[in-house]
Amino acid sequence: MAINHFTLQEKKYLTQDVFELVYEAENDFEIFPGQFITFLLPKTWFARAYSVLYKDAKKIYCIIKRLENGRGGSKEICDYEEGVVLRGVGPTGHFIDSKKENNKLYIATGTGIVPLYFLVRDLLSKWFRKSLKIVLGNRTQKDLYYIEEFQNLKNQFSNFDFEVFLSREEASSFQKWYVWDFLVQENIQKFEEFYICGNPNMVDEVESKLIQNSVSQENIFREKY
Ligand SMILES: Cc1cc2nc3c(=O)[nH]c(=O)nc-3n(C[C@H](O)[C@H](O)[C@H](O)COP(=O)(O)OP(=O)(O)OC[C@H]3O[C@@H](n4cnc5c(N)ncnc54)[C@H](O)[C@@H]3O)c2cc1C
Repeated sequence: MAINHFTLQEKKYLTQDVFELVYEAENDFEIFPGQFITFLLPKTWFARAYSVLYKDAKKIYCIIKRLENGRGGSKEICDYEEGVVLRGVGPTGHFIDSKKENNKLYIATGTGIVPLYFLVRDLLSKWFRKSLKIVLGNRTQKDLYYIEEFQNLKNQFSNFDFEVFLSREEASSFQKWYVWDFLVQENIQKFEEFYICGNPNMVDEVESKLIQNSVSQENIFREKY
């Protein structure tokens, strides 16, 4: 597996604890949408996986949440300033598109949206014709980002749609509650494949709801953070 060097070129806040980080790789590489890089962090000595949001020549875009109560990997990577060079392994991962012409539903919480954005953007750029829909869960409106980008995709492509569920928002123009609330039988039946990414409990909950509704395991793709 290839080790590469990634120079942090741009860093910006998307919310108070989520950053968009743009790295330039020393050596160009091929990636399948949905895959991740494992960064080797020199201070904590942790290896931490981060999905790629998209890739443009040697640049990769990542979105990383700085977890105040974690063991420190996300704090370390988010606290570096532009110019830092990190070693990274990959890309790796099996959370990639099936390459089947099916209607596809994508379900994420929080930064689980990262690989889904890459998967959907890639299919739309290739003029994929079947329905693609993202259901995104977060806590409050303040935790949201990339909504404008999803809205732009929706305006541009009639086969793409997205819906946001906020679990802790009273006054909201978005749907309330949890992503699995979307999974009523009528909605599930519109899709043949399901890609789930984010919080491990959510991934398990969504998967069991799909299986209860007779979705076969081979049409469920999962990535737990
Ligand atoms: C394949 C893969 C891809 C990943 N891609 C991303 C990504 O694109 N962006 C990103 O921010 N993280 C991503 N993660 C999570 C990341 O690898 C680390 O686990 C995370 O940054 C926490 O590291 P830590 O050392 O700060 O805390 P840890 O002590 O390792 O984790 C503390 C707790 O936080 C939970 N957690 C992990 N990631 C998140 C998150 N993003 N939001 C909320 N809770 C979380 C863990 O389940 C764990 O219970 C990915 C994980 C995997 C396995």
